[in-house]
Amino acid sequence: MIKLYNSLTNTLEEFKPITPGEVSMYVCGPTVYNYPHIGNARPMIVFDTFKKMFEASDLKVKYISNYTDVDDKIIKKAIEEGVSESVISERFIEAYNKDRASLRVDMPHKAPRVTENMDSIISFIENLVQEGYAYEADGDVYFRVSKIDNYGQLSNQKVDDLIVGARIDQNIKKENPLDFTLWKRTEEGIKWNSKFSLGRPGWHTECVVMIQKEFNADLIDIHGGGLDLKFPHHENEIAQSCACKNSNLANYWLHNGMINVDGMKMSKSLGNVVWAKDIVEKFGPNLVRWLVLSSHYRSPLSLNDDTIENAQKELEKITNSLKQSYVKIELSNNHIKEVRNEELFASFLFAMQDDLNTPNAFKALFEATKLLNATLRAREVDFDVLSAIIVSIEDMLAVLGVHIDRIILSEEDKEFHLKWKQTLKNKDFASADVFRAELIERGIV
Ligand SMILES: [Zn+2]
Repeated sequence: MIKLYNSLTNTLEEFKPITPGEVSMYVCGPTVYNYPHIGNARPMIVFDTFKKMFEASDLKVKYISNYTDVDDKIIKKAIEEGVSESVISERFIEAYNKDRASLRVDMPHKAPRVTENMDSIISFIENLVQEGYAYEADGDVYFRVSKIDNYGQLSNQKVDDLIVGARIDQNIKKENPLDFTLWKRTEEGIKWNSKFSLGRPGWHTECVVMIQKEFNADLIDIHGGGLDLKFPHHENEIAQSCACKNSNLANYWLHNGMINVDGMKMSKSLGNVVWAKDIVEKFGPNLVRWLVLSSHYRSPLSLNDDTIENAQKELEKITNSLKQSYVKIELSNNHIKEVRNEELFASFLFAMQDDLNTPNAFKALFEATKLLNATLRAREVDFDVLSAIIVSIEDMLAVLGVHIDRIILSEEDKEFHLKWKQTLKNKDFASADVFRAELIERGIV
């Protein structure tokens, strides 16, 4: 049984897919005006791991994540550089795809862009106006929040409280300070023609339109994103979906927590932004994924020297045991049979299926590693048992997106290894050190 914490109901629920055996999942993608930082990488890794967990549970996943390629920040950057908006968005979409690949994040089945969906977005807004859920004011179009009975249901806020907060930046064109922009008349930057004005859409409509279009459905299983998107973005997505389709858009709303760097919120003004490409280059994809998944996805993730060092130690424990096992198998001229120990894997998957409880899944991995070490050190190594534990651990790591290359020894490698052991036995430590250095160079010890 898979359990998910649903932000819409604030409870842990059993996951029941709309179509048995399948999962439809949409995750809000980035606004492409800059390189991805570790805060952008977290949802990429978290929802990729959800996808891998579902697949390991024999479910077929359809995963869509968009690119917001129309936005004030993109326009600002385009003007600064004297280029078109598409030059900026193309550059950063490429950067995102590169970082996704280097983090072993599977490409979504589709990554639609706002600019490719403009006709659908405009007709969606027209429809909302026609139905009375939106109104035009001086070329702008606003969503009429008062028409939605349970507005605030996702973010658990009362409309009256929200109005108090929204009054501060009240726009006189709006009927109600909570009404949000669907279409904005603009003079600056890229614009499209609509019957309202020459302008561009607000941010909250694209995901609703893309979900309906890509999944060809009014309701999907899972909608994900960072906690910072819960309000207003996701609340407003639900409002629009309730208006036109009387649906909450998704049955399960999942939100990942935020990241702090050295105990502080990551921000440009603090100068502590950690770029995904830099951290991957420095530590490698295995460690970055391990680090990100070391905290439960709903908890805040602390990035500092201690958490990095701890992740390094944990991962090394597993890597070293695996490497020793690969070498042992090679030296004894055995081979790995591709059959896993189902019991070991099940204890890992059980934790993963419990709302992606990665800290508990890590514990299952450490238990399996302990067993691997014990099997490896037995007087008589049972290679079938050893092989099954190896395959189980590799499969667990694969769900986490961590990959360790198997070691294949050449005849020369084996000879070096034999000589190293012999020199050790003869207490010729000087020679042993030379062989050991060579073996380290070859990545064998
Ligand atoms: Zn969205």
